[in-house]
Amino acid sequence: MSKAPHLTFDLDTPGVSTGYLVVPGGTDRGELSLPVVSFNKGEGPRLLVTGGNHGDELEGPIVARRLIKWLPEAQTCGRVIVLPVLNPLAVEAWSRNTPLDGLNLNRVFPGRADGSVTERIADAVSRVLLPMADTVFDLHSFGPTWDFPPAATTHPIADPDLMARTVRMAEAFKLPLTLVWQHDDTAGMFDITAQNQGKVFVCTEFGGGTVGADNLAIYEAGLRNALIALGLVEGKADYPTFRQQKFGQTLETRPSDELKSPVPGIFEPRCSVLDEVKQGDLIGILHPIDSLSAESIDIRSPETSIVLAITSGAHVDSKQVIALVARPLEIYESGSLRPRVPQRS
Ligand SMILES: [Zn+2]
Repeated sequence: MSKAPHLTFDLDTPGVSTGYLVVPGGTDRGELSLPVVSFNKGEGPRLLVTGGNHGDELEGPIVARRLIKWLPEAQTCGRVIVLPVLNPLAVEAWSRNTPLDGLNLNRVFPGRADGSVTERIADAVSRVLLPMADTVFDLHSFGPTWDFPPAATTHPIADPDLMARTVRMAEAFKLPLTLVWQHDDTAGMFDITAQNQGKVFVCTEFGGGTVGADNLAIYEAGLRNALIALGLVEGKADYPTFRQQKFGQTLETRPSDELKSPVPGIFEPRCSVLDEVKQGDLIGILHPIDSLSAESIDIRSPETSIVLAITSGAHVDSKQVIALVARPLEIYESGSLRPRVPQRS
């Protein structure tokens, strides 16, 4: 009989404790030990920080490791649990999903104790770590085939109070973009499991493309801003500089904001992320490669909007999403629809 998932140390121990979250073995592989650090300074906010949910998004594990370095000096109260790599099998393979079972960890929450290894990781996190936190930051990035600005994101949440608190927490990162992302593929996400338990969950999307020092500095500053807002550390939160600007805006995007490739080909971007475009403006050009007599196809903005994400550096298939656009968020708060305006400092 397999053991229950457990920690190798007591989270109630004061100060800094290190150990492992033990994910029991199953029919597909043996036990898995995920390194965990606990920072316990008693009463106060309880935060869980996770990275490496998707194995080809390595900014999260890097920024989580940086947090582990500076937090002991800076923390004034409360509890922080840091798990830098949720899915080491995917990270080792630089793969979004777990190679062993082909599953996307962020679509199998709350997991299954008797499932395959990805489901057992989700089960261990849901049962052992999640109950110990009121707020969760899951550090993602957009992966290597996208250009995307540093962002703190959430999905629409049915409970208007939790929605408002979540958007405020996301904005507290003071990243260039705060995003409410409506899409149809949310079943089994870590967010949903946490939100069903009333927790504030922010998913950071730490950019796309390759991992770079400048962006990592922005992400680390954003995470520090969020910890200041929670009251876990002291200091002054400020917008990090992104493209010579200290700037943040709150946007929303829906499934209808996905621009898809009409044919297979090479996508040539003609604008940058966070550019404002009017209806009909050129976003990019799609070049078919099977025939030089086939015309290249213009991809144009369907309406006035802000370019959110652009595919980068990969051949695209027909009907593949090649760009996302967005617009300023209106959020249900205090009984009224309140438009959000850009914030500067
Ligand atoms: Zn991800």
